[in-house]
Amino acid sequence: MTEPRERNPDAVEHVLAITDRIAGEITTKNAAEVDKLARFPRESMDELAERGILGLLIAKECGGLGLDLAAAAAVVQRLARECPSTAMITAMHFCATAVIDEYGSRRVREAIAAGKHLSTLAFSECGSRSQFWTPVSTARERDKVVELNAHKSFSTSASHADSYVWSSKPLAGDELSTLWLVPSDCDGLNIPTSFRGLGLRGNDSAPIVADNVKIAMDNRLGADGEGFAIMMGIVLPYFNVLAANCSIGLMKGAMARVIDHISGVRYTHSDAALSALPTIRAYVARMQIKIDMADMLQKDAIDAVLSGHENATLRILETKAAAGECATEVLGMAMRVCGGAAYSNGVGLERYFRDSQAATIMSPTTDILYDFLGKAVLRMPLF
Ligand SMILES: Cc1cc2nc3c(=O)[nH]c(=O)nc-3n(C[C@H](O)[C@H](O)[C@H](O)COP(=O)(O)OP(=O)(O)OC[C@H]3O[C@@H](n4cnc5c(N)ncnc54)[C@H](O)[C@@H]3O)c2cc1C
Repeated sequence: MTEPRERNPDAVEHVLAITDRIAGEITTKNAAEVDKLARFPRESMDELAERGILGLLIAKECGGLGLDLAAAAAVVQRLARECPSTAMITAMHFCATAVIDEYGSRRVREAIAAGKHLSTLAFSECGSRSQFWTPVSTARERDKVVELNAHKSFSTSASHADSYVWSSKPLAGDELSTLWLVPSDCDGLNIPTSFRGLGLRGNDSAPIVADNVKIAMDNRLGADGEGFAIMMGIVLPYFNVLAANCSIGLMKGAMARVIDHISGVRYTHSDAALSALPTIRAYVARMQIKIDMADMLQKDAIDAVLSGHENATLRILETKAAAGECATEVLGMAMRVCGGAAYSNGVGLERYFRDSQAATIMSPTTDILYDFLGKAVLRMPLF
């Protein structure tokens, strides 16, 4: 076991000050181009790595900051206000590094802490689609070497990551999965197409094919067959809370643009700003309520996870579903409030509108979460 992560308000404030500078100076400047060209936000990711932010979850004994989910969530939310693609790349890296810090080698943990190693999750497959907990890809052992074969359907940072936290069927037994750390430079790994998404266009979420990829047995993360437990125990809380923060940051970034627009543009005949219309103000009020509801829920989810509260599972399931739904509703209202100016891309909102759609279908998708949540409320087993 690694040492417990810290809840250290001073360290979090320091990390947030650095993130705020990067987001305000670099991420915001490149966001429109990252979206337009569907290019990886290299400048922001390099600076986050250089300043130690990408080693936020790695234990201090390996040179990381040793911080917890609350700090990771605050970083993701701040980045998402400017560029949800950058925020999601960072979120997937944090999900992967939470697993690596617990089960990975010291060498890789030190490289992450030093900002020299970007990781991500490669769970989704063409066969099991959004039901990531049942991979159909295989792992076979021959003379202490493991051979992987897979058709992964989406992996954020696919052609930019140094490693993938990778799921497969177990080597033996009836459990659902085993996790591996797969270096991205292995022979036999192939990225057949690049990502051209509707939204989150900078996040390089491409398919990955593994054709007899060979890795050492000690690249296994956890025991054979322990993959499902690690997915549920580590990845699900991290992913759901960080994805929620991506949606919340996105809503806050959009809201700032809405406020600028409706306070700035005026009708010549009356000299009244758009914000003088009670209808417009009512939409702003509804948007703010949704943003605050989602934000409060993610804070409560983090508290429940970190304190081991009995509501933790419920909150983890709720926070991503709620924030994702709020984001699509808030961005729908934002587009309406800003009228033709938003539709014709004059306000910078339509990027947020497109980016907001991804949360609903990133697995666990909103509909999968509703199914799980219904079961949790009814005290039925989730699986
Ligand atoms: C921008 C982006 C980044 C991504 N990054 C990653 C990544 O880094 N790593 C990774 O592993 N994956 C990643 N994914 C994949 C993602 O997590 C989902 O697996 C994928 O989007 C699901 O698409 P699909 O077409 O396979 O869904 P399908 O499985 O075909 O789902 C279609 C519909 O069926 C619904 N559905 C399916 N099962 C159920 C159920 N049991 N109950 C209720 N409804 C159900 C779904 O909610 C969805 O609405 C990414 C996807 C996107 C778009």
